[in-house]
Amino acid sequence: MTLTMGCPVLCEGDEGYEAARIVWNGMIDRKPRWIVRPHSIADVMQAVRFARESGLPICVRGGGHSVSGKSVADGALMVDLSLMKSIQVDPRRQTVVAQGGVKWGEFDAETEKYELATTGGVISSTGIGGLTLGGGIGWLMGEHGLSCDNLISADLVNAEGKHMKASAAENADLFWAIRGGGGNFGIVTAFEFQLHPLKSVHGGVVLYPRQRAAELIRQYRDITLTAPDELTAYAALMTGHGAPLAGIAMCHSGENGSAEREVKQFLLADPPIADMTGEKKYTEIQSMLDFSAPAGLHYYFKCPFLRELTDDAIDAIIDHAASAPTEQTNVVIEHMHGAASRVPAAETAFGLRRVHYSINIVAGWDDPSLAESCIAWARSFASAMEALGASDAYVNYLGDEGAAAVKASYGSNYDRLARLKHRYDPENVFQFNQNIVGIA
Ligand SMILES: Cc1cc2nc3c(=O)[nH]c(=O)nc-3n(C[C@H](O)[C@H](O)[C@H](O)COP(=O)(O)OP(=O)(O)OC[C@H]3O[C@@H](n4cnc5c(N)ncnc54)[C@H](O)[C@@H]3O)c2cc1C
Repeated sequence: MTLTMGCPVLCEGDEGYEAARIVWNGMIDRKPRWIVRPHSIADVMQAVRFARESGLPICVRGGGHSVSGKSVADGALMVDLSLMKSIQVDPRRQTVVAQGGVKWGEFDAETEKYELATTGGVISSTGIGGLTLGGGIGWLMGEHGLSCDNLISADLVNAEGKHMKASAAENADLFWAIRGGGGNFGIVTAFEFQLHPLKSVHGGVVLYPRQRAAELIRQYRDITLTAPDELTAYAALMTGHGAPLAGIAMCHSGENGSAEREVKQFLLADPPIADMTGEKKYTEIQSMLDFSAPAGLHYYFKCPFLRELTDDAIDAIIDHAASAPTEQTNVVIEHMHGAASRVPAAETAFGLRRVHYSINIVAGWDDPSLAESCIAWARSFASAMEALGASDAYVNYLGDEGAAAVKASYGSNYDRLARLKHRYDPENVFQFNQNIVGIA
């Protein structure tokens, strides 16, 4: 079987193949049969048609940052979008068109030149593709909604290898489905987003010794209960240079005076180990947590949602974090709120529109023999959260939980998604994702 295309195609043994098959999660070690690196929509169309004619499964790599590593599959034809990097800002309309291989760090750096921004993920090496298609939680979600709420249109190659447009005006059903439905409906070659004026923000990180965690997280809970839309904050339990720490990371995109005051509310009465808050460029805030997620470590996530951070839940989180199996393991509490929570659930495929906290249990390790104990720790922590009322989870944080978890992550939108999956991809050509099972 030969594959000749107008763009790079790699097989095992070719220079660049090894680097192209590696993804962020070091636990994933899979070998695609072909890696196609398109330059254009036509290249993607050709790759899909070739795979279908040859009976090869297709996987799609955006930024290669997914926890589950489903963007790489053994024996598949991988469409690796990483050469499709164009980013074109239209300052008059305050919009941007970015291709499917762009990462958030690249995206933000370009839109910042125009003092414009939109909601994106908080780690700059994450791809805009997988993140937006699954929803897109980030610092600006309270004010501007999720990344997918800011999507205006998309160019997509469908399961037949044809180019389609999706927007409110064209293929509106498909447009609904790709705002949360992940990679189930096609390969998105370009995303058009709404941007918003943003000169700078207030925020950063404050750190305390872990002994102060109970006080700090209770205070975090109380502040986030009434926080304005412009203020988004995460609480974290981690280890730094061998010392157990508790911290708050935050971003305030509102007016200068109130932003500074509201950011300082997170400080306890006595001085922290470090106060790295202040007025910053948005790109600084968007990369300040990169150190916490180095590529190549082995990772396992469990991220159940809690409606409320009760005192009991906070105590359980601190107790479990105290027995973290490695120094690279951390726990992050994410507050989903504001505009992101107010969009009616049926308006986009992203179904879990409510105010809640995602309890991100992130086990990280570098010695493969630790896998079992790290995974067991994360699972038992998640079970303890479930006993306290935690349920469902964000589809982009799922690993291999399976069909029931995927269904739960869409809430009441799942049935419509399943019907649209059947309409747009009846043969499940796009199967390496949090898969939606089509129904007629
Ligand atoms: C450390 C870390 C931090 C994270 N932070 C955030 C965060 O702040 N906010 C948030 O919302 N999520 C976050 N996530 C989750 C993130 O949204 C997902 O991991 C997402 O899948 C990453 O997108 P990617 O393109 O880099 O992934 P990839 O691994 O390349 O792709 C994952 C899947 O997405 C699909 N896909 C990707 N691109 C395309 C495309 N162009 N067309 C069609 N399908 C495509 C494919 O099905 C693929 O299997 C984080 C994950 C990690 C590991």
